[in-house]
Amino acid sequence: MRKKTALIHGAHQGDRHFGAMATPIYQSSTFRQAPDHPGPYQYSRGANPSRQALEDQIALLEEGERGFAFASGMAAITAVMMLLRPGDQVLLTQDLYGGTYRLMEQVMAPFGLKACYVDSSQPQEVAAAITPDSRMLYVETPANPLLSITDLSAMASLAQQHGLLLVVDNTFATPYWQNPLALGADLVVHSATKYLGGHSDLLAGLAVSRSAELGRRLFRIQASTGAVLGPQDCFLLQRGIKTLGVRMEGIEDNARQLAPWLAAQQAVRRLYYPGLAAPEAKAAHQRQCGGFGGIISLELDSAERALALARGCHYFALADSLGAVESLINLPARMSHGALPAATRQRLGISDSLVRLSVGLEDIDDLKADLAQALAP
Ligand SMILES: *Cc1c(COP(=O)(O)O)cnc(C)c1O
Repeated sequence: MRKKTALIHGAHQGDRHFGAMATPIYQSSTFRQAPDHPGPYQYSRGANPSRQALEDQIALLEEGERGFAFASGMAAITAVMMLLRPGDQVLLTQDLYGGTYRLMEQVMAPFGLKACYVDSSQPQEVAAAITPDSRMLYVETPANPLLSITDLSAMASLAQQHGLLLVVDNTFATPYWQNPLALGADLVVHSATKYLGGHSDLLAGLAVSRSAELGRRLFRIQASTGAVLGPQDCFLLQRGIKTLGVRMEGIEDNARQLAPWLAAQQAVRRLYYPGLAAPEAKAAHQRQCGGFGGIISLELDSAERALALARGCHYFALADSLGAVESLINLPARMSHGALPAATRQRLGISDSLVRLSVGLEDIDDLKADLAQALAP
């Protein structure tokens, strides 16, 4: 089954009993059992049919063994970190989602996990940071918010060589375009709140394991800690996933037109977009990902200009999140990456004049006009 078909027909859509096209919402906490025949479902923290349909579909889309649906992206990432033990070290992409940074520093550090942030676009820098305590390599590509590109095959060979678990946050690329497990990653995580959901109407997280063994370990954590996605949200998310392909194509079509136009604006000092990246990074991205996506970050000529742009747009709503049908605008230094210390932000290039755009599906001429009037001096 090809990707576009798997989005619509993936795993077991619909139901066996009445032939419903959509997977029903099994709004039930528990299921009747016979003492010797517990049946496929018992208690919804462990498994629920609405969640199972979604979990099987994401496993199929990510070409993995077993899928898991969580209450949010952060719940999925937390469950993945719980695979580790006190004293273990995790190497992470340095321009990382701010919430993942906060999780590592404020929640996982007291449990004894050590985080080390590296420029994962440079494999030799990652190799140099590996210590005897290293257990996991956690990568975002394209990363948030500077869209840096990490070569996943190079990370997979490093991980294999040193016995590390390779985890990829695939939120920006989506399984429509990028499948890290097929390139040798052990686990994929998603904030399904973003492109997979796609309509700014739910919070969800997904994880997929490449092996059955890792799947069993993650299941134990999911069922024991219980941050599972409820049946209604599983239904909404599966509905969103059906149109992921057409949304990504349409969003990218808009972003491809906006990026060079924005780069030519006088107030734009620097533009970050995988399609306009340096040749080496662009080539690495194209080897592993089928599209350039819909996120564009801009360094403007001043922090005041960034604020004025964020305030002055009509269609680009100033809001957290990304990946929706609506265009969104974000000031990373204050919003998505506010949890990073100022010195770290500065070192990474997440300045007060940086703006991140999540391009939506509106008419391209309206989007251009919106940005043009907000950028006008
Ligand atoms: C939003 C986001 C997360 C966190 O997901 P939530 O669904 O908000 O908990 C993790 N990683 C990336 C790249 C994100 O953009």
